[in-house]
Amino acid sequence: METETQATWLPLDSVAQERLRGLRKKIPEHEISYLPRATCKDCGSVFPKQACPKHKLLQECANCHSRRCTSAHVDIPSVDHVYVEQRLFEADPGYRIRFIGADEHGFPVITFTGEGANRYANLWGTIEICGVERSEVGTVEAGKANLHKELMSDLIKRLGLRLGVGAELRDRSAIRFPREAESKGGRSSASASVAAPAQPVTAAEPAIDAKVIAQWVSRIAEVKTVAELRAIQEELRDPKMETIRAVAEVKDAFVSRANVFKQEQAQRVVDAASDPAASDEEDSTDGDAVDLPSPRRRARRAA
Ligand SMILES: [Zn+2]
Ligand SMILES: [Zn+2]
Repeated sequence: METETQATWLPLDSVAQERLRGLRKKIPEHEISYLPRATCKDCGSVFPKQACPKHKLLQECANCHSRRCTSAHVDIPSVDHVYVEQRLFEADPGYRIRFIGADEHGFPVITFTGEGANRYANLWGTIEICGVERSEVGTVEAGKANLHKELMSDLIKRLGLRLGVGAELRDRSAIRFPREAESKGGRSSASASVAAPAQPVTAAEPAIDAKVIAQWVSRIAEVKTVAELRAIQEELRDPKMETIRAVAEVKDAFVSRANVFKQEQAQRVVDAASDPAASDEEDSTDGDAVDLPSPRRRARRAA
């Protein structure tokens, strides 16, 4: 990526390279916010007065912190533009953003695309930082009252992304499914997770037969639906299963199967966003009631 405009610049020195690498550092959890996106046409929005019969209202979603929201939504991770700017500044305090195009007063040119509810405003810009240059477009819904400010925020986030800031959040496995926030009285039963057992395996524990482990791993790997995975999760919740569910291979099998479902659902969400008529099909495997383990950051797949 760095080579794309490098020909017109002096070769990057090792300091600049190091700083650019720093931009790709993983975003810490406290800088990530989750934006809810409704996935059920019958619920209508993230905040229906009454959820449809297939879904329920959550008091508070543990990811996006929406109150009184439908369980039929996904939480899309995002890093606030303020944190992106902090990273850009740390890498190169002299970084510069130029807008592409200006009107007769020198204001940046904002273009509009789409129609009706799908009308969007776009702002193009170029960033120069640490000796490299990237161009991107910020895009927000055209009806926003604070359009210019939102466009700027989105452009900064997009430019940051072009430099690798928060790239891992674009991975579909980073999308989360809603679950009830923990109440003050402790974890609700729904938030107990197979993937996060209380007790790690220690050397002192009796060894489990490798054959038994292999059976569990293949059983989990062959699961076809979220419902089946949920059933296995229930089985593993039994206190007698504690040693099994603490086995790393079993955990890994569960997480990787859960991630496959997540990616499938995320794909459907993406598809549904581009084709709203297709959105009702995801109820067949809705993952909202399943307490899937939190997504594991994976090596980014070549998209
Ligand atoms: Zn619904
Ligand atoms: Zn949420």
